[in-house]
Amino acid sequence: MEKSYVGMLHEHCPVCLNKDETKSSILLDKRMRNSLEKDNNVIANEPCEKCGNLLKQDMIALVVISNSTSDKRERLDQKDADRTGEIIWLKKHVFREVFNLPGEVVEGHMAFIDVEVRDKLKSMVADSDIENPTLN
Ligand SMILES: [Zn+2]
Repeated sequence: MEKSYVGMLHEHCPVCLNKDETKSSILLDKRMRNSLEKDNNVIANEPCEKCGNLLKQDMIALVVISNSTSDKRERLDQKDADRTGEIIWLKKHVFREVFNLPGEVVEGHMAFIDVEVRDKLKSMVADSDIENPTLN
């Protein structure tokens, strides 16, 4: 693809990966070299408005991925996550209960879970505890 000295930078929500139109900006190569792609995508630090509103309601996003998480204790990097597109929103108190973290402060706004954990979770948690907003 042809490069240019100007390009667009699109920020994507770290939770749902939707493009946050309010955070697009213009990139400019200072030396006017044709070094930039037309569209450049990055994962933002802050969630989009929809996800942000759910997070304000003391919820956590469980992002379902097709990688297995059972044998890994370390954090999975965003770029290595093979997302299935499914996101389960849980109240943090339900999350603490289900994952046996009593009294712990749940930091952050999302966690990756694999398909196996998703299935277990769905069998353990009542539908009323799962928030299912349409994100698109
Ligand atoms: Zn979002």
